[in-house]
Amino acid sequence: MKQKLNTYFRVIKIYFRVIPGTAIVTLINYILQGLFPAFTALVLSRLFDTASGVVQGADTARKLLTYGLIYLAAYVLNNFWGFISNIVMSIGADKNQVNYRYEICKKFAKLPLIDFENSELKDKHRRAEQCLYQGTMNQVTQCSFRIVIVGLVGMFTVSAVLAQYSLLFLPLCLLSVLPYCIARLVRGQQFYLTVRAQAKKTRRMQYLWGLFTDRRTNKELRTFGADDYVLNQWRAARDETQAEIWEQSHKDAVSFALCDAFRLVGYGACIALALWLTLRGDVSVGVFGACISAFMSLQSQTMSVLVNGGSLPSHLAFAADYFEFIDLPDEQTGGSYYGGLRDQIELRNVSFKYPNTNEYAVRNVSLTIPKGKKIAILGENGSGKTTLTKLLLGLLPVSDGTILYDGGNVDTLDKMSFYRTVSAVSQNFVRYTLPLRENIAMSDVDRLNDDTAIESALRDAGLSDLLDDVGLDAELGNAYGGADISGGQWQKLAIARGLFRPSELIVLDEPTSALDPLIETEILSKFIELAREKTAVIISHRVGLCRLVDQIAVMKDGTLVEFGTHDELLSQNGEYTRLFTAQEKWYK
Ligand code: ADP
Repeated sequence: MKQKLNTYFRVIKIYFRVIPGTAIVTLINYILQGLFPAFTALVLSRLFDTASGVVQGADTARKLLTYGLIYLAAYVLNNFWGFISNIVMSIGADKNQVNYRYEICKKFAKLPLIDFENSELKDKHRRAEQCLYQGTMNQVTQCSFRIVIVGLVGMFTVSAVLAQYSLLFLPLCLLSVLPYCIARLVRGQQFYLTVRAQAKKTRRMQYLWGLFTDRRTNKELRTFGADDYVLNQWRAARDETQAEIWEQSHKDAVSFALCDAFRLVGYGACIALALWLTLRGDVSVGVFGACISAFMSLQSQTMSVLVNGGSLPSHLAFAADYFEFIDLPDEQTGGSYYGGLRDQIELRNVSFKYPNTNEYAVRNVSLTIPKGKKIAILGENGSGKTTLTKLLLGLLPVSDGTILYDGGNVDTLDKMSFYRTVSAVSQNFVRYTLPLRENIAMSDVDRLNDDTAIESALRDAGLSDLLDDVGLDAELGNAYGGADISGGQWQKLAIARGLFRPSELIVLDEPTSALDPLIETEILSKFIELAREKTAVIISHRVGLCRLVDQIAVMKDGTLVEFGTHDELLSQNGEYTRLFTAQEKWYK
C-alpha cells in the first residue's frame, strides 16, 4: 500500500511538473464535468415545469424560451469546452509520454555495464516499456482526477439535487453500480499479473521477429531453410501470449455484461420510484423528468468513480514496474578528476567472474602498460582478452585485485573525465546508418562540422575513394536507401572513428578479425602508425601485428601466460611460439 501511494504521488508530481498547462486545463475540465449534470438537472426541472405551466396558462412563453436558451447555451458551451480540452489533454499526454520514454534512454546511458549481463535487467526494461505502451501514467492521472474531482464535485452536487426529492435514490444508485468497482479490482489485478508474467515471452517473440527483419539473419535463415522453423516458433509464442490476453478479455467482457445488466435493473427501479413519487403528488412532472436525468448522471458518475477506483491499483502496479527500472542504481563514479595518463596503467592480480558463472573469465592477471606504448593482447578465442580490456577501461568491476592509472584506482576516478580520455573500437562495432560525416564524428560530436578533420581521418584510414565517391553527407547503409559499403570499409570506418576521438588511450578489440590475415595486418600497421601519439591496446587472436607492437601479453584460459617482445617470447618457446608457428603460413 505504501509503495502504491509513493508511486501515485510520483506520477502526479511528474504530471504537474512536465505539463503544468495541461494539468490546469484538465482540472477545470473535470470540475465542469462534475458540475454540469447537477446544473442540467436543475435547468431541466424548471424547463419541464415551465412548459407544463405554459400549457395550463400559468407561465409565459418568454420564460420557457429563456430556460430553453439557457439549457441550449450550457449544452453548446460544454461541448465546445470538451472539444478544446480534449485536444489540449491529448497533446499533453503525448508530451508526458515522451518525457517518460526519455527517462528510459537516460537510464540506459547510466546503468553499470555489468547489469547488462543479467537477463533480469531485460525483463525489467520490458515491463517498463509495457507500462508506457499501455499509456499507464496518463491513465493514473486521469483516473485520479475522475475519482477526486468528478467524484467530489459531481456526485456531491447531483446527490444534493436528488436528495431533495427522495433519499432512496442514493443507495439505489450506489448499489446498482457497485459491481463495476469489484469487477475492475479483480479483473485489473488478473490482467496485470498476466502481462507481468509475459515479459520474457514477449522479449523472445521480439527477438524471433528481429531474426526475420534483419537482413543478415534473414539471409542465413533462408540459406539454412530454417525460416519456417523460426516462423513457427514465433507463431507459437504469439499464440500462447495472445491466448492468455484473450482469456482475460473474454472474462472482462462477461463481467462487464453482468455489471451492465445490474445497472439497468437499478435504472428501472429509479424510474419506478420517480413515477411513484409523481403519482403520489410528492414531485411535479418537471421534477420527474429531472430525476430520471439526474439519476442517470449520478449512476454514470458513481460508476466512473468506482470503475476508475477499481482500475487504479492495477495501473499503479504497472507504473511501479516502470519506476523499478528507472530506480535501478546508476554506475558508480569516483570523485577523483582524471586529467589523462602521465606515467602508466597497472593491473595488479586482477580476477573477474561474470554474474551467474562459476569459472573465472580472467584470473590473477598482473600487467603494466607504460604511457605511449602499443601492447597486443594475444590469445585464442575465449582466453579472456575482451574481458580483460573491459576491466582495464573500468567498464566491468574487478572481482579481485586492482587497476591503477598512475597509481589511482580506476574505481575512484570520476567516470566523465576518465571516459573523455579513452576510446574503444569493439569487435561488434556499430554500423551507423547515418551520413558518412556522423560515422566518423560520432566519437567526438563537438567536431561534427570540422570537415577538414573528418576528411583527413577518412583519408588516413584509406577511405579516400569512398569519400570522393559519395561525399561527407551521404547516408551509409541501405536502411534508408543510403550507400551500401563493403565489410572492409565499415571496419576501416570504425577504426577511423576510434582514432578521431582525441583520446589518450585507445583499445582495439579485433574489429578486423573477419578480414584476410594479410589485409588485417596492413590495416593494423596503419592503425599503429596513426596512433603513434597514443597508448594503444590491441586485441588479436592472430600473430600478424606482433612484430609491430612494443610488447605482447599472451592470454590462455583467463590467465596471462607470457609477456614480452616478439623476440623475447619466441626465445621462450612457449604458448606464443606455438601460436606463431601455427599461423606463420598465413603471412607468407
Ligand atoms: P576472448 O576475448 O579471448 O575471446 P572473452 O573475454 O570474450 O574471451 O571470454 C572469456 C571467458 O568468459 C569465456 O569463457 C567466455 O565464455 C566467458 N564470457 C564472456 N562473456 C561472458 C558473459 N557475458 N557471461 C558469461 N560468460 C562470459
